[in-house]
Amino acid sequence: MIVDLRSDTVTRPTPAMREAIARAEVGDDVFGDDPTVNALQERVAALFGKEAALFVSSGTQGNLCALMSHCQRGDEVLVGQLAHSYRYEGGGAAVLGSVQPQPLPQQADGTLLLSDIAAAIKPDDEHFARTRLLALENTWNGKVLPQRYLDDATALAHARGLATHLDGARLFNAIVASGTAPARLVQGFDSVSVCFSKGLGAPVGSVLAGPRDFIARARRVRKALGGGMRQAGLLAAAALYALDHHVERLADDHALAKRLADGLATIAGIAVTAPDTNIVFAEVANGAGGRTEALLAHLKQRGVLATGLIGLRFVTHLDVDAAGIDRAIAAVGEFMSKQN
Ligand SMILES: *Cc1c(COP(=O)(O)O)cnc(C)c1O
Repeated sequence: MIVDLRSDTVTRPTPAMREAIARAEVGDDVFGDDPTVNALQERVAALFGKEAALFVSSGTQGNLCALMSHCQRGDEVLVGQLAHSYRYEGGGAAVLGSVQPQPLPQQADGTLLLSDIAAAIKPDDEHFARTRLLALENTWNGKVLPQRYLDDATALAHARGLATHLDGARLFNAIVASGTAPARLVQGFDSVSVCFSKGLGAPVGSVLAGPRDFIARARRVRKALGGGMRQAGLLAAAALYALDHHVERLADDHALAKRLADGLATIAGIAVTAPDTNIVFAEVANGAGGRTEALLAHLKQRGVLATGLIGLRFVTHLDVDAAGIDRAIAAVGEFMSKQN
C-alpha cells in the first residue's frame, strides 16, 4: 500500500460516495435544470450566508470566475506574493481577464500587512490601473488566518472601495480547526470559493458563492471559459455527500498531521513546523545540497510519497491512516540515521 502524502487531492471517492453519485438526479445544468447542482449551490450559499452560488470545475476556475467578475479589463487585484491564485494558476486572471495582479509580501503566518494593503491601493489617476479587489486565502499553506486579521483587512478594503474575495480551497479545514461558524468566517468577503476535491474527498468540483448579480456575471464567465457542464449533478452529488459526511472528519486529518509532525520532530536533522490543519512542512538539514531529493527518493522506495517544491510537504487526508503516518516517520528516520 502506497502512503500518498503529496496532496489531499489524491483521495478517491469512497464506495458510499460512489453510491450517492449513482443515485443522483440530473438535468442539463446549462439550462439550470440539474436539481442536484441547484441543491448544492443553494446549500453552499446558505452555509456561507451569501445570496447565490455557482458550481465550477475546479478551484482555479472558481478563482478565475471570481476575479473576472469582480474586475474589468485594466483593473488590479491585491494578492499575496505566495497566494495560489497569483502563483499557481497559470496567471489566468492576467492571461484571460486582463486583470493586473499587484502581489504583496506575505508574513510567516500568511497575512499581508494592513499597511502594505493600504499603501498599494492606487489613487484614481490615469497613470494607474484601477485597484479593485483584495484577494486572500484561508487556509494558506495549511495555516488558519486569524479572524481579527480577516475582519480588519476586509474592512480596510471595503472602506477604500475595493471588493473582497476569499480563496477558500481548504476553508473547511479552517472551519473545523477554528470552530468558527462558516458564515462568520467569510463575513467580510463579498465572495468565497471552496474546493470539494481536496480534503472533502469528492472527485471534481468547487463552488463560488457571493451576491446574486456577481454570481450571474460569474456564470457568464464560466461559460466563456468552457466550464458550462451538462449533467453535472453526478459531480454535485459527490460534493453534497462530502458536506454530510466528510467535514467533521477533517479533524482526523488534523490529528494525523500532528502525529506526523510530532514524530518527525524527534528525528535529528529534521526541522518541522507545527501544523494548524492537514499540511506538514519540514526542512532537512543541508536540504539544499540535494538531500531533500535524496530523502524523497528514499521515501518513494519505501512506498511513501511527498513533495519537495517548498521544503518537504506532507498532506494528510481520508485515504491515509495512523499506520501509514507511522511508516512515513519510520522511513524518514531510517534515511536520516544513515546521514552524517
Ligand atoms: C488547490 C488550490 C486551488 C485550486 O484548485 P484546483 O482545483 O487544483 O484548480 C486554489 N487555491 C488554493 C489555496 C488551493 O490549495
